[in-house]
Amino acid sequence: MTGIVFDIKRFAIHDGPGIRTSIFLKGCPLSCWWCHNPESQKKGIEHLRFKFKGSLSIGWETTAEELLIEVEKDRPFYEQSNGGITFTGGEPVLQAKFLMETAKLFKQKNFHLCLDTTGYTAPKIFQEVSQYIDLFLFDLKHLDDDYHKKYTGVSNKLILKNLEYLVETKKEVHIRFPLIPNINDQANHLENLAEYLSSLKYINNIFILPYHKIAQGKYEQLNFENKMNGIQEPTKDEVENTKFFFEKSGFNVKIGG
Ligand code: SF4
Repeated sequence: MTGIVFDIKRFAIHDGPGIRTSIFLKGCPLSCWWCHNPESQKKGIEHLRFKFKGSLSIGWETTAEELLIEVEKDRPFYEQSNGGITFTGGEPVLQAKFLMETAKLFKQKNFHLCLDTTGYTAPKIFQEVSQYIDLFLFDLKHLDDDYHKKYTGVSNKLILKNLEYLVETKKEVHIRFPLIPNINDQANHLENLAEYLSSLKYINNIFILPYHKIAQGKYEQLNFENKMNGIQEPTKDEVENTKFFFEKSGFNVKIGG
């Protein structure tokens, strides 16, 4: 079986505990306004035209065995730092069969596995995938379904259902919350979010990912519509205040991945 990967990052330190290798699987069913990797959203290998760099191929076909060779290179670093492998994307679960085959092989080799996921997939598939994963980095973008649809293109119903499944089965989950001014940083939304996460129990860790404009140039280069025009990065104070708010609500909070 083969899958499509669009990047492999060695020595990653923001994608879960310790030193990790992050494997980026191509394709995502969401289309978030603030996406930093818009070139990753389409499933399959793409040939994109960049304004100044010419044409680039995004993604390549690979196998679980080839990925194993790659990740074995850094095994000593994972062992020294309690690190491992992180599957990210895109949305890795979109290639569920390939993800499961790879994760199963990696588990046989005793790697610690993280899944960075939106949780947007059929519960049956999500539950099957979850048996191979040690830690979920679960992206939660908006609790209000209408706003979720507006800003990401999809409903959050499956997402919440899958998150609740992880909690029920006592999986380790870190929430990743992208903090975006005027989109999800309103006081009432933060309050609802804290209340919801408290009600789930077993969720202790929130990582705030402040929106930044780093991908703006990419949108221009690719001639993609950038819906974030006019939306500012949160200030340092806004980020700190949000951190303080979640801490007051009883969570361990970190800024960044
Ligand atoms: S879920 Fe992540 S990869 Fe998918 S569109 Fe949103 S930001 Fe981009």
